[in-house]
Amino acid sequence: MVSASTQESIDALRLNPIPRQGLFIGGKWQDAERGETLEVVSPINGQPLTSIAAAGAADVNAAVKVARTAYEDGGWSRAAPSERKKVLHLIADLLEKYALELAVLGVRDNGTEISMALKAEPGSAAGTFRYYAEAVDKVYGEIAPTVQNVLGLIHREPVGVIAAIVPWNFPLMIGAWKIAPALAVGNSVVLKPAETASLSLLRLAEICAEAGLPEGVLNVVTGRGAITGEALGLHMDIDVLAFTGSGGVGRRLLEYSARSNLKRVYLELGGKSPNIVFADAPNLDQAAKVSAHGIFRNSGQVCVAGSRLLVERSIQEEFVEKVATIASKLKVGDPLDLTTEAGAINSLEQLTKNLAHVEKAGVEGANLKTGGKRILQDTGGFYMTPTIFDAVRPEMTLARDEVFGPILGVIPFDDEPDAVRIANATPYGLASAVWTSDLSRAHRMVRAIKAGVVHVNTYGGADSTVPLGGVKQSGNGYDKSLHALHKYTDLKTAWIQL
Ligand code: NAD
Repeated sequence: MVSASTQESIDALRLNPIPRQGLFIGGKWQDAERGETLEVVSPINGQPLTSIAAAGAADVNAAVKVARTAYEDGGWSRAAPSERKKVLHLIADLLEKYALELAVLGVRDNGTEISMALKAEPGSAAGTFRYYAEAVDKVYGEIAPTVQNVLGLIHREPVGVIAAIVPWNFPLMIGAWKIAPALAVGNSVVLKPAETASLSLLRLAEICAEAGLPEGVLNVVTGRGAITGEALGLHMDIDVLAFTGSGGVGRRLLEYSARSNLKRVYLELGGKSPNIVFADAPNLDQAAKVSAHGIFRNSGQVCVAGSRLLVERSIQEEFVEKVATIASKLKVGDPLDLTTEAGAINSLEQLTKNLAHVEKAGVEGANLKTGGKRILQDTGGFYMTPTIFDAVRPEMTLARDEVFGPILGVIPFDDEPDAVRIANATPYGLASAVWTSDLSRAHRMVRAIKAGVVHVNTYGGADSTVPLGGVKQSGNGYDKSLHALHKYTDLKTAWIQL
């Protein structure tokens, strides 16, 4: 896939004009009722790309109404699972067919390096739709072990109307994690993309229609979080709110639920994930390479990024040197160049936040080992060097707060209990990794670390078969795997006297 001709196709696609984008409601494009729009700025060069509709409460009402009508109508919600399966497979086929176009569109909007976006966005989204297509006619209800003169049947039913609110870092991948399982079991969906990454999800809505998803089953409302998102959160006719984003917004969604109809709220939130390297790691060069990619891919704008590097004190100097050498050689720049290893920061606002973190880490006494600067300013885009701070203490802001940018904090530890104590000293619990040759230690660490995933002798890596979710303040519930279906189904008991 990656070749000179792929680069030529990307270079042609990057010039495509993008028309003004509407809301996708009931299978039709429409402007926001009040005609409001938001300008979309490309992080590649800071130039306006297009504009999207900014939905208000009336538009959200219209989308929810259409979604409810489609649900009650039963064309999708009561269709045979084998019928839904066909459509989901077709969506996956089309995602593969339009992969390059979708990836380029998404990168122009959010800045992820194309080499990663191709796999992580249309590639992963297609895989997710396929996984749930295959699952949908293989999930059974249950017969309860009741007394002999009773038959207890446990039915699984779709919940109704799902609102999915997603962030900007991997819009298609994360969107698919919500939409595919929700649709698979028969729900209708109203999707709210992030302000700075709506374009590929609007295209996904079109693709779903092309695949034969009935009108009104998937609707997309773009706009401001505090307006469009709030209207969804407070809506009385949404049954489940599935969210990926920051903890601050996650808290608001719980409040909205409490203030409205007690809709179920599932939260996939941030992290401050520890990547723990023991002196007996099997291959320090490999560990350094994977650790660098584990924080710097997509410029650190990854929820599971290994942003705290915990290194056993005896190898600290040697290991940090290795990671810093790799980091300083990473090719940062034009995200639509296939050789770029770290693309743009999503927005000027996010870049400004990152640089404030750099400044604060310095003021608090961390040692800047490499990076820490805005670069390529002449392009007009938002770029930053991969940054490493050594001598970070667990109480420093850099060790506690999620940055969501290309900034790594190195914290030394003395022994296994010390590593566990530092790793768990965070309100987050999303991802983690342990590098060691000692099998028993690896298993002890898997048990001791409080996180949704513990990687061993690697960082990152997952597929549709395993759940992704956080513990503590990283959220509740799971995306991916069959476990995700629980979010989008209700159990109903039939108690039959025989
Ligand atoms: P964000 O919380 O600012 O925004 C996420 C979404 O919520 C956007 O669509 C936004 O418009 C919407 N929103 C904002 N305010 C709202 C409100 N008041 N009511 C309703 N909706 C509102 O997050 P972000 O900056 O887009 O993404 C970065 C965050 O997402 C990081 O914390 C990152 O760790 C997290 N994240 C988590 C995962 C995961 O799987 N756990 C994956 C990716 C990103």
